Amino acid sequence: MLDKKNFYINGQWIKPNSSDEINVIDPATEDNCAVITLANKADVDMAVKAAKNAYESWAFSSKDERIGLLEKLYENYKKRWPDIAEAITLEMGAPKDFASKLQTGTGASHIKSFIRYLKNFEFEKPLGEHAPNQRLIYEPKGVCALITPWNWPMNQVCLKVMPAIASGCTMVLKPSELAPLSSMILAEIIHEVKFPKGVFNLINGDGDTTGDALTSHPDINMISFTGSTRAGALISQNAAKDFKRVSLELGGKGANIIFKDADPEAVERGALRCFRNSGQSCNAPTRMLVEKSMYDDAIERLKKYTENFEVADPKKEGEHIGPVISETQYNKIQTLIQKGIDEGAQLIAGGTGKPEGLDKGYFVKPTVFADVNNDMEVARTEIFGPVLSVIPFETEEDAIKIANDTSYGLTNYIQTQDPEKVKRVARKLRSGMVDVNGAGIAVDAPFGGFKHSGIGREAGEHGLEEFLEVKAVGGWS
Ligand code: NAD
Repeated sequence: MLDKKNFYINGQWIKPNSSDEINVIDPATEDNCAVITLANKADVDMAVKAAKNAYESWAFSSKDERIGLLEKLYENYKKRWPDIAEAITLEMGAPKDFASKLQTGTGASHIKSFIRYLKNFEFEKPLGEHAPNQRLIYEPKGVCALITPWNWPMNQVCLKVMPAIASGCTMVLKPSELAPLSSMILAEIIHEVKFPKGVFNLINGDGDTTGDALTSHPDINMISFTGSTRAGALISQNAAKDFKRVSLELGGKGANIIFKDADPEAVERGALRCFRNSGQSCNAPTRMLVEKSMYDDAIERLKKYTENFEVADPKKEGEHIGPVISETQYNKIQTLIQKGIDEGAQLIAGGTGKPEGLDKGYFVKPTVFADVNNDMEVARTEIFGPVLSVIPFETEEDAIKIANDTSYGLTNYIQTQDPEKVKRVARKLRSGMVDVNGAGIAVDAPFGGFKHSGIGREAGEHGLEEFLEVKAVGGWS
């Protein structure tokens, strides 16, 4: 079992003040794979103090210095790529190929992208040609608390750490206590690159104690959080007390509208996007809205596709899915599948229990419900497992109404070969992102949601600006 009890504070790995420890569990085997410490208030104070001290000079570091360090970080990240991918497979059960190509890969893409945006970003510029003496200055927001979940660990950590560094902020990262191992490798990389002491600090811990102490700390100026809507609301309350800046990336319940003129792969592609990462993606299209005239055919195809969808050991190569993160999450998904059955949705594939031959580990059967009504719990709750709800619709207006009838608004999907319909529907969907015909959303496009899916945007230029305050100076000459 890996000993990962120390924290990275003020440029060194230190023994924590807290002696409260928990095991990290490999979800594929249910075995303990590492031990970490849960930070107490004294640990949080120490990490925030280091970040606060470092801010004094890092805030005024040159753009060239930050670019140079980020470029070195990118090179070292690539060298440690296999270690990061292996850690992600171990901590959260992402299958080997997926962990390397997508999980570790998106982290790398964000580092590269933020270097590019930093190079092009103007930290000082005139308000406009009409007002040359009015100057805008973009300054770092200050000492940041970065709190991340377990489902896309390196993606989410890089979406916060890289723009924080690029903007001149200093930070305390608290990764998910369920999947902290890949983040600890990132801390090793940052140490190797020799960032000034205290710019980046890492502590481990849970939400109730460590997360709460961090987000209510008076010396934290900004909180960037990705996780559940529940925790996002609690964090916002802490932030409100002293007007900390907050950026929240929360849950989703995306609709995938499949019109009868969709391309031939649209149905299977939609199921794959729902099941991928074992359904543990906030932007997963978990409600498939299918036009009535092709509904029966779509259900037939989904049944066949899902019955042949492979769930297997994540340490094996291939395109299968692995387990879900934890016993708690496994039990929550089982309860929701049973709820769907009890509410009268038609189970056409999967169901409760474990897939055949996978008795150990938190493996879930890919599951499809047909004839779902948008008021049923399976259509309203973010299940965070490989569970797809299929809802029929009659008209374009109906589809838009059903898609928008949710408290979330992260990503919606449209499948049609009619470009005018794409434009009409995309304009009316209440979500931060709309993915058309499987095109995908670019790595540097603004990522974030409407409604309960959050506040603010990550990635690219928008993600960099989240970490900056703008100051207006009149009379600049
Ligand atoms: P979670 O909210 O339980 O935990 C996320 C992180 O927040 C963890 O590090 C946890 O320790 C911490 N935390 C929990 N309670 C806290 C509190 N009161 N104060 C401070 N920190 C606290 O979420 P999870 O179960 O780890 O992640 C799954 C959720 O994240 C899903 O709802 C998913 O949709 C969402 N998510 C959103 C996005 C996005 O970009 N919109 C991306 C990935 C995941």
